[in-house]
Amino acid sequence: MTGTPTLDRYQALLGTQELDRLEALARQFRGHRLVMVNSTASGGGVAEILRGMMVLLGELGIDAAWEVMGGDAGFYRVTKAIHNGLHGRPAGLTAEMRETYRARMEIEAARLRLDGDVIMIHDPQPAGLVALRRRGGQAWIWRCHIDLSAPDPETWEFLEPWVALHAAAIFSAAAFVRPLPIPSFLAPPSIDPFADKNRELADGEMQNAIRSLGLEGERPILAQVSRFDRLKDPVGVVHAFARVKRRRDAVLVLAGGSADDDPEGVEVLEETRSAAGKVGDVRVLELPNDANVEINALQRASTVVFQKSLREGFALTVSEALWKRRATVVSAVGGIPLQVIHERTGLLVHSIEGAAFQALRLLERPGLRRRLGEAGREHVRLHFLQPRETRDYLAVGLTALAQQASGTLPHARSPLLLPSGRRAGGPA
Ligand code: UDP
Repeated sequence: MTGTPTLDRYQALLGTQELDRLEALARQFRGHRLVMVNSTASGGGVAEILRGMMVLLGELGIDAAWEVMGGDAGFYRVTKAIHNGLHGRPAGLTAEMRETYRARMEIEAARLRLDGDVIMIHDPQPAGLVALRRRGGQAWIWRCHIDLSAPDPETWEFLEPWVALHAAAIFSAAAFVRPLPIPSFLAPPSIDPFADKNRELADGEMQNAIRSLGLEGERPILAQVSRFDRLKDPVGVVHAFARVKRRRDAVLVLAGGSADDDPEGVEVLEETRSAAGKVGDVRVLELPNDANVEINALQRASTVVFQKSLREGFALTVSEALWKRRATVVSAVGGIPLQVIHERTGLLVHSIEGAAFQALRLLERPGLRRRLGEAGREHVRLHFLQPRETRDYLAVGLTALAQQASGTLPHARSPLLLPSGRRAGGPA
């Protein structure tokens, strides 16, 4: 398959019609330059999305670039606090922290190449750049990957004035949309089925990867793949596994690396190791950011995949597992229920006890695992592969450019627009 254009490979998965729609939008977009901006080149879901999408945009003949903003430990402490604040935990932004954020915007505004017609700003880290770098004719779009349904008010008050300077905002789910004076669009994230993280693995590759992780053996594997972040609740997974272990012999694997911009990882890894040590049969694997084939193999080798997050924007890891026809036990939070429809594409839970109960149920019922896994793969094929998200981005980009050109950029509170152009009434 190597060498075959990605678009041709998608054709086989998605059919001609879907690809024709993407090509039609790309035709309209050509001639404009698109610049993506985020805060990490690797680690975390946004980098994962952008890596695959840049390939697709290139094949579509779109002039696109990806700029990664820089930062230091102080800035990442602030942006992690903002991240947690947007997820609802009061961030306690001091005057000094606010100044750290602003100062970094000045540095990055002078450094980054923001010469596109459409500038897509991913998440809060680069959200302040718009105030310093927006020039006439450009459409700046804020693409939010975070669950904003119940943010800490003070954190949102800090960020909102910058968000409002953009031409439009994109959210992953309707419940995340905030009242804003700019149009909001919905576009859930997506995965690249041809990336090393998700592609089919030959038997030999699979065995090698599993061996390299030290996971050979007969016992069923239960796994969660996630950064060591409290909101991913790795310790909660250990506690759920402790309950499973009373009834069934199994191994729990918690695999995670760290994102460049996540300063809490080391602490949470320690907490996880300590909890794991008390339970036994738990492997805590700290993986480098490029361990894609290993993660692919681990997901494929797992009898049950957990995503027991406490808050979550989307969790690409869920789509990754579903794509591999895995049976999943996942929290009903954030964007996860877009992917897991309870009892159809996986099992939703709300507690440690629930996670243990459903994992045991899956361990005992291979037929149920197969049924959920098959339906999960089809759900991802239809909704969460990259051509769909790329199409959404191009459509929002074109809409925002048209608004700029006609001078109809909304000033006051505007109705909420959905991608189809339907009006969804004013924001709550
Ligand atoms: N991931 C990885 N290595 C790890 C942990 C996670 O490559 O050790 C990947 C994971 O497979 C997924 C992405 O990083 O593709 C995480 O995206 P998600 O949306 O699940 O969570 P985020 O980290 O963005 O909160």
